[in-house]
This record gives sequence, structure tokens and C-alpha cells, in this order.
Amino acid sequence: MSASTLIVVRDETIAVHGGYTPDSTRAVAVPIYQTVAHDFVDAAHAGAVFDLETPGFHYNRINNPTVDVLERRMTSLEQGVGAVAVSSGAAAVRLSVRNLTGLGSNIVTTPQLYGATYTYFAAVLPSEGVEARFAADDTAEAIEALIDDNTKAVFCESIGNPAGNVVDIEAVADAAHRHGVPLIVDNTVATPLCLKPFVHGADIVIHSLTKFVGGHGTTLGGIVIDGGRFPWAEHPERFPMFSRPEPAFHGVVYARDFPDRPYAVRARTVGLRNEGATLAPLNAFLLLQGLESLSVRLERQQHNARLVAEHLAAQRRVSWVRYLGFDDNPYHLLARKYLGDRFPSIVTFGPAGGYDAAIHFFDSVKLFKRLVNMGDAKSLVAHPASTTHRQLDEAALAKADIPPEMIRLSVGLEHIDDIIEDIDQALDA
Ligand SMILES: *Cc1c(COP(=O)(O)O)cnc(C)c1O
Repeated sequence: MSASTLIVVRDETIAVHGGYTPDSTRAVAVPIYQTVAHDFVDAAHAGAVFDLETPGFHYNRINNPTVDVLERRMTSLEQGVGAVAVSSGAAAVRLSVRNLTGLGSNIVTTPQLYGATYTYFAAVLPSEGVEARFAADDTAEAIEALIDDNTKAVFCESIGNPAGNVVDIEAVADAAHRHGVPLIVDNTVATPLCLKPFVHGADIVIHSLTKFVGGHGTTLGGIVIDGGRFPWAEHPERFPMFSRPEPAFHGVVYARDFPDRPYAVRARTVGLRNEGATLAPLNAFLLLQGLESLSVRLERQQHNARLVAEHLAAQRRVSWVRYLGFDDNPYHLLARKYLGDRFPSIVTFGPAGGYDAAIHFFDSVKLFKRLVNMGDAKSLVAHPASTTHRQLDEAALAKADIPPEMIRLSVGLEHIDDIIEDIDQALDA
């Protein structure tokens, strides 16, 4: 065997060499290219691949045919123009921001964020000289008030995890664009099947593929997708990285040399090549398996979640239930606007009896798994205040809209009777 090693799956054989073309991805089964590097046809070919003049693969920190299939499918689902898959959702958050920011710059974000994203913005970015400005709430007005000449991006989650807020992407994108700033949307909870942020004006979409896309709790992964519409070249002072020769990649000028997707190309040639949060080919394969069944899993999970929410709302032992499908949810109208009737399979509630009752419920479930994951085929329960968000003090919890007694359910594929029975026995306990 040459430097390229191929593991054949599902009777599929595809020759592995540097001349691999993306058309090979039309194969029904996706081979796992478990390899570090790819052999070149000759020196001229190697040079052309390194110069990005010809599509191809050289070294798998930068790109890989199996990962490429995942990137293409996610790009297509989100209706973007290019994507870079990475090793986790957290790596996607970091790459999406790092691709635009530098010393002395800032980003503006909603206060409702995934726990690790919140702590990255609040506690890590500042040490890199980048300020994260947390808006008072998730409205376009609150966000716009914090944008200034050094703002490089507005960041939000289309549906906040675990707050369950729905951001008015169109209004926030308009506000950002008025100031020449792009909007980055973390679309993990919504999934690309239920919401397509690019259609509503977002410029960059990211995902934790670990959750709904993977769907089986086996594999971490993330992705950064370029919408291809933000006019980087019109803002050379705010975004010099796209208009000046790139010192980290032989003087490429992204906006000139890759005018359709400069953001995605820079994310790969600088973010991946030099910072190395690469997604393993085997993990891309596992995530692709998940993607194939995403649509049917969502149908069943969303159906189950409605029944769970309705059941919880009818219990005296429950003081509140948050579910986007309920008319009285403050975000219901925005959810309808952006999701139609496809409300996420995430239900949060507060057991009567507060924090202690929440801990008791959490300790008593039998079918539900006590996991800080979401979107799994299996039903999961989490208590954010004592796990994902335990670094937040009471004030920060309140600002992030996470009551200390909040229980978060990610409703799975099990039979609804089994799910309800488990909830009832845990509430009784
Ligand atoms: C889980 C999650 C992340 C982080 O993803 P990992 O794959 O766990 O690193 C980021 N954003 C949101 C909304 C998430 O739910």
C-alpha cells in the first residue's frame, strides 16, 4: 500500500490518491479514509493541490475525503457555499470567532448561550485580547446598542440551549449588517432540517454535530458553514484578513482569490491547518450515519416531546413547563415564524418544590439517562444549574434565563408510554 491507507466499508472500493475528485462522493456508501496523507500523481499535482488550484487532498489535518462528504452534505442542507468540519461543537464556536477576531476587537452576543460557549466568551476570549459583549437580552435593539467600530461579529444561538429562547434572526442580521458586521448563528438545537439561518440573513452557521446530527451519543463533532453572502471586501478595515495577503498561507488574498467563499477557505487554511482541531475520518463517518436518519428521528422525537410537555403541564407536582409549541410560551410566535410547527424535542420544567425537588427528580429517573447531551435517540435528563452551567453564579444564571430548579429533558425515540411512566414515577418518588 502507498502512503494512503483505505478501509473499505460496505463493499465500496474507491482508489485513494491525490487526484481524488469530489465527484467520488456520489457513491452511496461513504468510505472511511483512515489515513494521514494522500499520495500525489507527481510534483506538479502536489504543487497545485498545495496552492489550492486543484481540488484534492494532501494532509488530513487540513482535509480528508470522508470529512469532505460530511462538509458537502451539511453545506447543502444549510444552503451555504462551503464548510469546515472540526473535532467538536466547541471547536466550531472557537473557529467561527477566531477567523474574524484579533487583539483589540470585540464580538456582541446574546446572553443565552450553551454553557461552554458562555465561559469561552466570558473567561477565555478576553485573555486573547477579544472582548465578548453580552447584550441585555436577545433582541436586535439590545444587540445593536453594543456594536462599534471594533465589533467583528454578532453571535447567537437560533434556539438557546438550554434557555429555549428563539432569536429573531432576520432582525438581528439586519442590525448587524447596518454596521457592516456579520451574524454567526449556532443552529445546533434547531437542526438544518427545521431552520435554515442563511435564508433569514445569517452569514455563518455553526453546529455541534454531537447532538441531533450524530443522534446516538457516540461521537463529538462540529462544523462551520459559510453562507457566502457577506461582502468582506467592502470592509477591508474591519476585516483585513480577507483583503491583505495572508502571512500564514503564502500570501493568498482570500477575497480576491476565493471571492465566493473567502471565510471558509481561511477557516481551513489558517484555522484548521495551524490550530488543528481536525475531525477524525471515522468520526465523520459516524456522524454521516446519523445524518441519514435525522429527518425520521426528528419527527418521532418532536411528536413525543409534545406529549411529554402536555403531560407535565397537567401535573400539580410541576410548577412550570417550557415548550416552544405552547401558545403561552413567550417565544411561541418567533418559533412559529422560524420553525413552522417543528418545535424542538427539548422540554424544560420546574418541579414544585424547587432545587431540591429537581435534584430528587434527576436522581429518580430510570429510563431517562442522566447525561449532559441532547438530541440522542435515547431520552436524556439534565439539571443545568448543577452541571453544564454550574460555573455560573446566581446572577449569571438569572441572566442566562436558567432557573436553579430547571430540569431539561431531551425526549428520545422510546415508546411514549414508557417515557411518561418514567416521568410519573420520578415525580412521585
Ligand atoms: C453542545 C453544544 C455546543 C458544543 O458542542 P460539543 O460538540 O459538545 O463541543 C455548542 N453549542 C450548542 C448550542 C450546543 O448545544
